[in-house]
Amino acid sequence: MTMPTGDWDSAYRQQEPAPWDIGRPQPPFVAVVEQGLLTGTILDAGCGTGENALLLATRGGRVTGVDLSETAISRARQNAADRGLAASFVVGDILTIPLPESGFDAVVDSGLFHVFSDEDRKRYVTVLAGALRRGGLCCLMCFSDRQPGDWGPRRVTRAELEEAFADGWALESLEPAVFDINPTFGMTTVQAWRAMIRRSP
Ligand code: SAH
Repeated sequence: MTMPTGDWDSAYRQQEPAPWDIGRPQPPFVAVVEQGLLTGTILDAGCGTGENALLLATRGGRVTGVDLSETAISRARQNAADRGLAASFVVGDILTIPLPESGFDAVVDSGLFHVFSDEDRKRYVTVLAGALRRGGLCCLMCFSDRQPGDWGPRRVTRAELEEAFADGWALESLEPAVFDINPTFGMTTVQAWRAMIRRSP
């Protein structure tokens, strides 16, 4: 999963679905949505085929999903149409695509934060701070340093998350969680973090 930009689209064009592309929302994310914590106008950064975005749409969220991969975005649009759900899916690089200033009440990130280099991680957090309204909530899930081995994306430590969101944010919770994945090397889950981070009012 650690890969150059152009490889993201090909990950979606393989015969086998990508490890993360499980055809349903991630369970730790479902739990947050069921608590009613993510409402209003919502950005799904790196939305993939749209499962998390479409769950939010079923709860009345006005969701915009952004992803680099054209293939992922066309599948997300098809999934929305098949389920009769309204959501907007846009092809673009989250680091450069124009986003409305303070235009979102909430942001979700399932599996994007951990793809960035140190430098792009800083840019990414700046982008999120610009797009999220003051007091808005970000729900972020990323690979954890508790995941053994070196397969997959870079591991993220608790301290790295605390540092990335140190200025202008409040880390309201940071909990061990798991990502479900399509069976890969015999694994069906990988260790993750689920963070709830509020942009300072
Ligand atoms: N959120 C989805 C996909 C996670 S995989 C899910 O939970 O299934 C990470 C996704 O981020 C991929 O779809 C990849 O195409 C996308 N991505 C990677 N870099 C990106 C960038 N700079 N801007 C937008 N999307 C990006």
